[in-house]
Amino acid sequence: MPSQAPITQLISEAEPLLSVEFFPPKTEEAVADLQQAALEINALEPDFVSVTYGAGGTTRSRSAKVSQVMKDEVGLNVMPHLTCVGATREELGEIVDEFYSDGYRNIMTLRGDPPKGQESFVATEGGFSYASDLVSFIKDRHPDFCLGVAGYPEKHPEAADLEKDLDNLKIKVDAGASFITTQLFFDNAAFYTFVEKARGRGIDIPIFPGLMPVVSFKQIQRILQMCGSQLPKALEDKLVPVQDDIQAVQQIGADWAKEQLADLLSNKVPGIHLYALNKADVALDLMKAFRTAAP
Ligand code: FAD
Repeated sequence: MPSQAPITQLISEAEPLLSVEFFPPKTEEAVADLQQAALEINALEPDFVSVTYGAGGTTRSRSAKVSQVMKDEVGLNVMPHLTCVGATREELGEIVDEFYSDGYRNIMTLRGDPPKGQESFVATEGGFSYASDLVSFIKDRHPDFCLGVAGYPEKHPEAADLEKDLDNLKIKVDAGASFITTQLFFDNAAFYTFVEKARGRGIDIPIFPGLMPVVSFKQIQRILQMCGSQLPKALEDKLVPVQDDIQAVQQIGADWAKEQLADLLSNKVPGIHLYALNKADVALDLMKAFRTAAP
């Protein structure tokens, strides 16, 4: 069985780390395609991969299946994500116990977005309101889980401002998180400011920047609308004239992401997290750039 080393241990052994995020495909058949993509990605030796958890727990079984395939059949160190959406603490406890007995030692610990059709997040009766509650709960149950939490360089969409959001991030960290992975961003200056402000508040755990290369203009607009990150004008000006030319958009997206990556690595980030949208070619291109640029 492949090693499911805690990410804190990986950081102490070798920085910068490289991780790739997958989401569970909509159908069982597509899981086989994803396994092929993961095999190709595994050849470039990511330090770990993460598997997202669907809104409302809708993809719980598919998330579990994808995580298991990645771990046992592909041989990757896998960090499953878990959200508080639609689950009581008993149900979350069962999931966490299962993760533990299946051998996982890392969890990306989240509150989650409101389920479709619901405007704002409402805690399930007997469940949790914030990711920090889930962090405390898991740490009480299995102290040796290494927990990641989400950070938002351009603030979480529901937060009044970045300062308030950082206060809440500090609560999550104090509850027992071991590292932070950020929401995608396209302007490194926003990330550096975020890190500086976090450090100023005594948040001293590693902060991994999340990078997503643009692969489709329509898709990125949809994603940005949901997550609240901004497209810098310089990038928008490059994309708008070629928005219907998929190849041109992908080239611009890849070039921009590679520039961000090189700059982040030269500024000594502890690692890079790639949101590669389940696309092996997109991930491999950036992973090669990482291997070339990483010290
Ligand atoms: P929280 O940290 O609980 O924050 C939510 C909001 O509440 C913020 O505005 C925060 O400022 C505020 N807040 C936090 N604590 C307090 C407090 N104690 N008092 C008052 N206000 C507070 N979504 C999925 O559905 N599945 C996934 O797999 C998934 N993976 C993700 C991975 C990463 C790296 C990131 C960045 C996001 C991911 N998301 C995922 C999206 C995430 O679920 C949403 O952004 C969600 O709206 C917030 O989750 P959170 O864990 O950041 O919540």
